[in-house]
Amino acid sequence: GSTIGILGGGQLGRMMAISAAQLGYRAIAYAPEGDNVVREVCDDVFANTWDDAAALAAFAARCDVVTWEFENVPVATARAMPEGRIFPHPRALETAQDRLNEKRFVEELGGRPAAYAQVDTDADLVSAIDRLGAPGILKTRRDGYDGKGQWRIGSIRDAQGIRLPDTPLVYEGFVEFAAEFSVILVRGRDGEIRFWDSTCNTHEDGILATSALPAGEAIEAQVGAARELARQVADALGYVGVLTLEFFATRDGPVFNEMAPRVHNSGHWTIEGAVTSQFENHIRAVVGLPLGDTATVARRVTMTNIIGVDIDQANQWLEQPDTHLHDYGKAEVREGRKMGHVTQLER
Ligand code: ATP
Ligand code: MG
Ligand code: MG
Repeated sequence: GSTIGILGGGQLGRMMAISAAQLGYRAIAYAPEGDNVVREVCDDVFANTWDDAAALAAFAARCDVVTWEFENVPVATARAMPEGRIFPHPRALETAQDRLNEKRFVEELGGRPAAYAQVDTDADLVSAIDRLGAPGILKTRRDGYDGKGQWRIGSIRDAQGIRLPDTPLVYEGFVEFAAEFSVILVRGRDGEIRFWDSTCNTHEDGILATSALPAGEAIEAQVGAARELARQVADALGYVGVLTLEFFATRDGPVFNEMAPRVHNSGHWTIEGAVTSQFENHIRAVVGLPLGDTATVARRVTMTNIIGVDIDQANQWLEQPDTHLHDYGKAEVREGRKMGHVTQLER
């Protein structure tokens, strides 16, 4: 069989590699950090730094196709892979790695993000709050995830207490949302697009806590418009693979939050809850196989993240019917760390 290379070594790569094996592909990973969780499921792991040109060339030489599971893979690393053998195209990483770029890109396609302002200095922050008001959220433009690199600003006085980090920032007005949801799609090499149902997503401390179906009327009424935007984004990027856009459902329609050029935590329910999971369809897309049916197979689905506690504590979930535990195999528990997830279905 042929070999799929995965850039990144987290749980998303682990679940991708499991789907790759199911389809008869060998997976190898390029994962610099020490605590990667792909070793048990990949044939080989290159534990080199992202800028090790010789190691990247050796990795690429072993792969028939390369993809990524981590949105902060340096663009130069992705571009070091042979053109036409890495999917999605690295331009998707380039667009999504900077929140300011991403918002401008989406606006050009007709999307509506929260009101925002570029912040590089203390004076910028004051004028941003003057113009957009408070409350709001100050975010680093790059490298944030799980709510890291974000500061809630309740008033101009909070802003005066902040020592700005030495990195480009963006200030966003706080969106009064009814609910949060994401659009997850897969786009094939031929441009065909399929969507999974949109779950209602809840967050705790900026980290996804649950995703549930049915999502409720507030969300269902806005999925159509959100999908249209997601389709435009995918087409504009010539995207191949699974792409995620996060939205706030508001009184005035869907407000774009951010995109992730990859499989997404809010799509983990698709492993048991859809005919074809996001991981299987991502692999199908990047290797050029026909896409699978994305339909939901249950009346109700709830995915719950296991965060910051020993995964053994989640075993009790298994006493409940049609309940499925995924252990990411992380040795060390840390506060806010995703250790696994549980999906419960009612068929
Ligand atoms: P992810 O792990 O999804 O990549 P992230 O660190 O990129 O997270 P965001 O998606 O920007 O973070 O924000 C995390 C959560 O914080 C959102 O899902 C939402 O609940 C809340 N949030 C972020 N921005 C806003 C906003 N402008 N108005 C209201 N709530 C917000
Ligand atoms: Mg994000
Ligand atoms: Mg997010």
